Amino acid sequence: MSSSSASVAACTPLPVLGRDVEVPLVTGEKVVYAALDYAASAPALQRVWDDVAAYAPYYGSVHRGAGYLSQLSTDLFEQSRAAVAEFLDLREGDQVVFTRATTDSLNLLASVLPAGTAVFAFETEHHASLLPWRRAGLTVDYLRAPRSPRQAVAALEEALRGTEGPRLVCVTGASNVTGEIWPVAELAEVAHRHGARIVLDAAQLAPHHRVSVRELDVDWVAFSGHKLYAPFGAGVLAGRQDWLDAAEPYLAGGGASRSVAREADGSVVVEWHQGAARHEAGSPNVIGAYAIASACRALTEAGLDTLAAREQELLARLRAGLAEVPEVKVLSLFGDGHPQVGVLSFVVSGWNSSHFAAALSAEYGIGVRDGLFCAHPLVRHLLGAEEEAPSECGAPEGRDGERSLNAIRVSFGAGTPTEHVDRFVTAVKELVSDGARWSYRTEAGRCVPDTRIHAA
Ligand code: PLP
Repeated sequence: MSSSSASVAACTPLPVLGRDVEVPLVTGEKVVYAALDYAASAPALQRVWDDVAAYAPYYGSVHRGAGYLSQLSTDLFEQSRAAVAEFLDLREGDQVVFTRATTDSLNLLASVLPAGTAVFAFETEHHASLLPWRRAGLTVDYLRAPRSPRQAVAALEEALRGTEGPRLVCVTGASNVTGEIWPVAELAEVAHRHGARIVLDAAQLAPHHRVSVRELDVDWVAFSGHKLYAPFGAGVLAGRQDWLDAAEPYLAGGGASRSVAREADGSVVVEWHQGAARHEAGSPNVIGAYAIASACRALTEAGLDTLAAREQELLARLRAGLAEVPEVKVLSLFGDGHPQVGVLSFVVSGWNSSHFAAALSAEYGIGVRDGLFCAHPLVRHLLGAEEEAPSECGAPEGRDGERSLNAIRVSFGAGTPTEHVDRFVTAVKELVSDGARWSYRTEAGRCVPDTRIHAA
């Protein structure tokens, strides 16, 4: 671990909100919270918060407002669209639609697919990219979990061979479970060669990695603001406009309609907008969009490659620390050494994962996540388990070499100090060697310290 100390120390994390927040331990002491759950939601960048605060007094109703602040807000909203387009390196004619988050973006895309579209997705996807396609008029082919990127490309080739008509491939850029990066450009090449289109779920990739729609040659990309240091309730679907313009609006209402007229026969005729407005009915989330644009600029200015290099050093430090604990098994689909973002899941032999995560929080002030991470088929595949996760956490299970039924995920990013990773590794080592210092029980489905009984 000492070999990487110097270079990690040389670059500093980006300032994020909450970096000095102290949380109570079960003992009553307080420690600075180590937020290691970035894959769920990343803290806001200080810069994003400052930009939003500076804009807030000028906030006004967008579109159609005649007042000065309405016009200013409308301009900023549209400029935010342009900033996202630049961040994603979109092609001429591509569209940026502001949504609520990735789940919303992919459901929007599902709603505009031409009737009869066949969708292809690996069973390893997050539920947000696995489930929106299960609707009338579409068919879904779930491809089995591949063991290597090459096998993924071959499986898609095989699945698309001989197919016709509108087809969509959906692939995640980086797994929210293993952090492993998928061969997006290769899958896009296969999809296009067979006349299919492809959407990239970049929820986990965009916060860690440069995403160029042009270079990857994907048709659409989706991501969430709250994972990109901009937690103000907005997300993005960006890409080709034709299917979006040809479909009925995702939501019917004001903003999506250009004109609504009552005919002599009593019917109502609607002319819908083309472009982003068609799928942004209702009053848009201007602050959310502005915050995403601010995050895009901040990450670009800090240098996405620099941030990624720093994150890789933290990852190496984490992996080296965990490798010293034989009881820890890191989950991986593609095997050791495959490129990965700062997301890693593992199980600890002899431990229930919920119990372990609860002890990390209560005894060390470290926030990670336990469970199946909204990717049930993938986690069950990686654990070799098909059963439901156990509901009781109090008694550690798996002591006799039984397998775990859920996992622990640690994830980090641009705001993570080295100390958080080190504290995490130390905590894992102590918990494994000495055990938890408190007892835990299940309360409302969560594993919590039982403050009535002190185990020590
Ligand atoms: N896709 C991936 C890979 C994710 O990790 C997540 C969330 O964890 C989503 C989609 C859904 O994102 P959201 O909850 O912001 O809609």
